[in-house]
Amino acid sequence: MVISELLNKGNDLLNRADIENHKNEVKLILCKLLDKDQSFIHSYPDYELDKEIESKFFDIINKRVKAYPLQYIFGELDFYNLKLKVSESVLIPRKETEILIEKIIDIAKEFEEPKILDMATGSGAIAITLAYNILNSKIKALDISEDALNIARINKENYKLNNLELFKSDLFENVNERFDIIVSNPPYIKTSDIKDLQREIQYEPKIALDGGTDGLKFYKIIISKAYKYLNSGGYLAFEIGSDQAKLIDSLLNDYGYTDIKVIKDYAGHDRIIIAKVSGGEI
Ligand code: GLN
Repeated sequence: MVISELLNKGNDLLNRADIENHKNEVKLILCKLLDKDQSFIHSYPDYELDKEIESKFFDIINKRVKAYPLQYIFGELDFYNLKLKVSESVLIPRKETEILIEKIIDIAKEFEEPKILDMATGSGAIAITLAYNILNSKIKALDISEDALNIARINKENYKLNNLELFKSDLFENVNERFDIIVSNPPYIKTSDIKDLQREIQYEPKIALDGGTDGLKFYKIIISKAYKYLNSGGYLAFEIGSDQAKLIDSLLNDYGYTDIKVIKDYAGHDRIIIAKVSGGEI
């Protein structure tokens, strides 16, 4: 089969399965399999593909027809300035989370040797990116899932990050020190909303999505304890659901955090909230 025919067939199958953005996806899949960039497939529509590529292509298309995420199929994705490994054991890092990274990189400049804790690290997306981009930082990252930590460990190993320590912990369970910045993108979807989210999301670990009945379970726990683990003048930073800013703002207020700021994402939705702790001592 030649390139143009293969792309048409792939398009047709994904279109019938209601996969958004399928035109881009089929090209992406073929480029990845051929290890070429898009200019190659545009320049050589009549290039005859070998049988092995063809069969790999349709294996992938058949998974995408069932809305299985492309990032799990490839086992990696581009995130910030890195390539990260992912598997079904971890949430697929989202573009929006890069805004949180930018912000942390910025506030970390206030500290000589910033000590940062990433809670519910999953693939390690936040911790790995911070450890890679803030050279003088000391980062710790935790997750309750050993399977998730194993993926984070691969990512850490790939970038040889000596300033990052990964450990298993149910939130603050195994945390015994203070930090300058605590950051988290915890699970924040209401339990009852998960089933209505797009088909791709149903393949992601429920434990990484489910924020309890009101979606706020993890914010409540973290906010009520984080100040005991923050140095004076330290920061608490979260990614949040677009309808949660008000509630989380008032929770932060109740616990005495100050300088609360909400930052919007690329779509104009509230997505990040950052607050300062004044004292730090209990
Ligand atoms: N911290 C990881 C991320 O931002 C995982 C978050 C999660 O599993 N809720 O991608």
